[in-house]
Amino acid sequence: MVCGGCGSSELTLLFSLGSVPPVNDFLEAAQIPEEKGFPLDLFFCEQCALVQLGERVPPVNLFSHYLHLSGASKANVAHLEEVAQVVKSRSSLADLGDKRILEIGSNDGTLLGIFRREGASVLGVDPARNLAEQVRGNGMEVLADFFSEDLGKKISQRYGRKDWVVALNVVAHTPDFVSLLKGVRETLTEDGTFLMENAYVVDTILKGQFDTIYHEHVYCFSLSALSKAFDLSGLKVVDVEIIPTQGSSIRVFGCRKDRQVTPSKRVTELLAQEAAKGFTDIRSYQGVPARVAAFRMELRSRVAELKRRYGKKLIALGAPARGVVILNYCGLNADDIDFVVDDTPLKQGRLVPGMHIPVQGWEALRALPGGDASVRAYLVLSWNYQADMLAKLAERVKDGVVLIPFPEMREVPVGKN
Ligand SMILES: [Zn+2]
Repeated sequence: MVCGGCGSSELTLLFSLGSVPPVNDFLEAAQIPEEKGFPLDLFFCEQCALVQLGERVPPVNLFSHYLHLSGASKANVAHLEEVAQVVKSRSSLADLGDKRILEIGSNDGTLLGIFRREGASVLGVDPARNLAEQVRGNGMEVLADFFSEDLGKKISQRYGRKDWVVALNVVAHTPDFVSLLKGVRETLTEDGTFLMENAYVVDTILKGQFDTIYHEHVYCFSLSALSKAFDLSGLKVVDVEIIPTQGSSIRVFGCRKDRQVTPSKRVTELLAQEAAKGFTDIRSYQGVPARVAAFRMELRSRVAELKRRYGKKLIALGAPARGVVILNYCGLNADDIDFVVDDTPLKQGRLVPGMHIPVQGWEALRALPGGDASVRAYLVLSWNYQADMLAKLAERVKDGVVLIPFPEMREVPVGKN
């Protein structure tokens, strides 16, 4: 096994979450026999400081029929509008009138549509054929493929080079992300700009918070590790921002390495901060396995105690990917959790991957026999939306206790936060 960034074989195992099925594959009971797990082992590269999964699930298994829609959440659409404003304000013109923009991972075409509305000519690349067809139906061109060095070459020959290449939550999901970056290099004009965003979670990993680790997230980028991969790919980092999207994300601006431009002060500052926090030093990661294992023991013992206290299984709130990771790693199954409540219609009526706990809508709480006599404990899995979860619960239930796993494990009575 070699580092996906620099090719070094000096990889150190940080922790293993065991074998877990793809966390977005909610299944029906009849599908249980075919369910397949893949190891979730996190490694650190001592050469380039890249935090990465060991075994990388072929992306074709994860992304060829994708169910996450960019346009489905208002908050995400607002974020994409903001990204378009950033591109606009950094372009030399007041509008995007003559700009040629490529989006890698164009999903349902929400961002392409915003760029087009601003006058730009747009092209998308996305492997999900179901989504590519939909975007073509809206009159925009999309190549249903994985972006790579080869595809970058083809695009620049067939469609011409691009003033902007945008990749939101794509690069860290791509096992051969160096090929993706080389493709960006092939596609950019001489003064073109590359904008990418991904989760920025190395500091939470150092604290032992492991629930952002699942197969889609092959890499946990720091600027230090990314800078090295950019350099190997013929690109350089020119500016960076840490933004609050999805907890914490890194937004990186890059360009071709041969372009005469000096990186901003923010680049040197963030690199210095990361070094000071120990992101690039293997010794900083030495306490992580013990923290992750201690979390598992504490959650299991608290769940067991709550089951005893109320004489009932718990009900879990939210079935996000991170919640599926928590349940699987901690081995909490249908013996511990009655059901999981989630808003997503595609998950309702199905089972949680690996742990096979049924997923239901919020109305399932009202249908419990005995009303407030069914007082019990709840486990918040969408803990990053805990205020929303606690409010929705308090609308339906008067009594009981809620266990919140992260950032610090704690219990609150129903109706409090
Ligand atoms: Zn490396």
